[in-house]
Amino acid sequence: MKLLEYEAKKVFRDAGIPTPENRLIDSPEEADEAVRAVGEHVVLKAQVDVGGRGKAGGILKADAGNAAEVAGDLFSRKIRGLPVNRVLVEERLDIGKEYYLSVAIDRSSRCPVVLFAEAGGVEIENAAACDPCAVRRECVSPLLPDIPQFQLRDLAGSAPAGVKAIINTLYRVFREKDALLAEINPLVVTMDGEIYAADAKLIIDDNALGRQGITVNRDLTPREQRAEELGFSYVELEGSIGVIGNGAGLTMSTLDLIGYYGGKAANFLDVGGGADRERVREAVRLVAGMAGVRVIVVNLLGGITRCDEVARGILEADVSQPVILRLAGTNEEEGRAILAQKDYRMLDSMDAVIRAAVEESK
Ligand code: GDP
Ligand code: MN
Repeated sequence: MKLLEYEAKKVFRDAGIPTPENRLIDSPEEADEAVRAVGEHVVLKAQVDVGGRGKAGGILKADAGNAAEVAGDLFSRKIRGLPVNRVLVEERLDIGKEYYLSVAIDRSSRCPVVLFAEAGGVEIENAAACDPCAVRRECVSPLLPDIPQFQLRDLAGSAPAGVKAIINTLYRVFREKDALLAEINPLVVTMDGEIYAADAKLIIDDNALGRQGITVNRDLTPREQRAEELGFSYVELEGSIGVIGNGAGLTMSTLDLIGYYGGKAANFLDVGGGADRERVREAVRLVAGMAGVRVIVVNLLGGITRCDEVARGILEADVSQPVILRLAGTNEEEGRAILAQKDYRMLDSMDAVIRAAVEESK
């Protein structure tokens, strides 16, 4: 789950990384008071979940005289399509130099990797593309609570002395917060030689949200949240054929076959083993509720799952789209009889079901 800049900055500040003085506001009327608290010259920063806000017009300079007016402008903008509901009013820094600093996971070496570049700011991607050596990188053993001194030295190079401590603190935050990414871009050294995290990014591993005390993953759509509550493995896609299967392998091969016959799946949904009537009913309703779903394929193998229970769940769901099924295994005939009451199509092979669904979806 991604944290917004103001949330990440609070985490960094609590860990001991200096951040500029700031206040969060949710309307232009609060701008003047915020300016009185942080200082006469400020930057107003849209708190939206997109990269490159600066270039997209999400960061504006303001002063004590015009802060409310500039804030009004910023609140009325859309930044890469997103509305601005909150703005961070922040002490404007007199920037001497901008560095890039981040800690991420290097999947090939299975270690945290620390990146540091002299050329930070909004052009870091270009700088790295033109000259890969511009970004220094060190993989750190995940067993170590701190970055060894020799690696800190290689990363920081000739940067001011205080930078090494900040690199190490960010690495500690990355570990403690179960992060996938902790980034400061730019890490600013002011004309007076002070060092600040002028921007902040923190992405928490979704698998660690419980441990981090985060109860709701707000990066999920309401439907994805509901699927998580129900314990389904669920991924939204873009097509018009809803898919419900049991077991990741069977569900994946259902998606593959839909693609093979020229159809487009609307989702992946694995109900798991032993799905009873309620779970099937909720799964069918969940998939039917996605915009653009024209037909639903249910492909279940009855092992501990009983086909008659599945059939009852489908009847109870009572959705408007056609449901085409392949059920095989325990109580298959009972299931078939129940479905026949309501004209549901239960075909004999996976192949036949998917060809019928692709046909129906067009
Ligand atoms: P991003 O575009 O979403 O990465 O937002 P940043 O917070 O990184 O800001 C983008 C750029 O705006 C920075 O690289 C700076 O050049 C500039 N900027 C941000 N804060 C300040 C500030 O306090 N003073 C000055 N002079 N420039 C700033
Ligand atoms: Mn930035």
